[in-house]
Amino acid sequence: MSSPTGRVAVVTGGASGMGEATCHELGRRGHAVAVLDLDEGAAQRVVDALRADGVTALAVAADVSDHAAVTGAFAKVRSELGPVHVLVTSAGVVGWCPSVDLTPEAWQRVIDVNLTGTFFCAQAALPDMIEAGWGRIVMISSSSAQRGSPGMAHYAASKGALISLTKSLAREYGPIGITVNNIPPSGIETPMQHHGQATGNLPPNEQMAASIPLGHLGTGDDIAAAVGFLCSEQAGFITGQTLGVNGGSVM
Ligand code: NAP
Repeated sequence: MSSPTGRVAVVTGGASGMGEATCHELGRRGHAVAVLDLDEGAAQRVVDALRADGVTALAVAADVSDHAAVTGAFAKVRSELGPVHVLVTSAGVVGWCPSVDLTPEAWQRVIDVNLTGTFFCAQAALPDMIEAGWGRIVMISSSSAQRGSPGMAHYAASKGALISLTKSLAREYGPIGITVNNIPPSGIETPMQHHGQATGNLPPNEQMAASIPLGHLGTGDDIAAAVGFLCSEQAGFITGQTLGVNGGSVM
């Protein structure tokens, strides 16, 4: 089945949370969707749900921090679905540790996945976008990039760098029709957030909600709606921007 828009989207971290919601949003918008994640079985579960809704979809397993694996994954998408014109990078890992106790390995893993992995995926997708003279990249960062986060220096630093990466790629490839934007979420109910609560690193929902001006947590669909717009034709004059989807937590 060919995609009505003729566009292929890759969503990293597409097997869970806001990445999964984004796969469905982009599918509803007529894209063919490649669900890229660490766990092929989890990606396949999302693909099965997309196909049940009539969406052309493909599961690809890769660790985004592994350059060869990313190159192979994009080659598979290209050969099975076609050139990639939309990229959403939602794959990420989180960690909590006082900065004085942070090991080099823990620091490196967070930087490797969140920052370097995002760059590898953008680098793999850009040639198709350059060839088409059209492209959309949306990077998911974090509100910790905007306001800092105690006990999460590695995470906040990796996400802050994504905002700089967004702006750099937006300037570099804007002249040929590729937009690059960034969404720093906060307080979104996903498996990652539940893990943070289960390990005692994040407060319970009621306490989190009390610190959000809109008074409640967000969902993956809230992020997906913003991503869907930023990937659309209508968002063609928006690039290099950081769009908080956070209930007003950061203004
Ligand atoms: P999630 O439910 O844990 O989804 C993240 C997905 O990325 C998971 O499927 C995970 O696989 C996958 N992943 C992790 N490392 C990967 C790697 N090296 N290569 C490929 N895939 C990998 O989390 P989420 O809350 O939707 O988070 C999505 C993004 O939003 C993340 O970048 C996160 O940092 C950011 N964010 C979330 C919140 C929030 O409130 N939830 C707030 C700020 C920022 P596994 O499950 O197998 O590890």
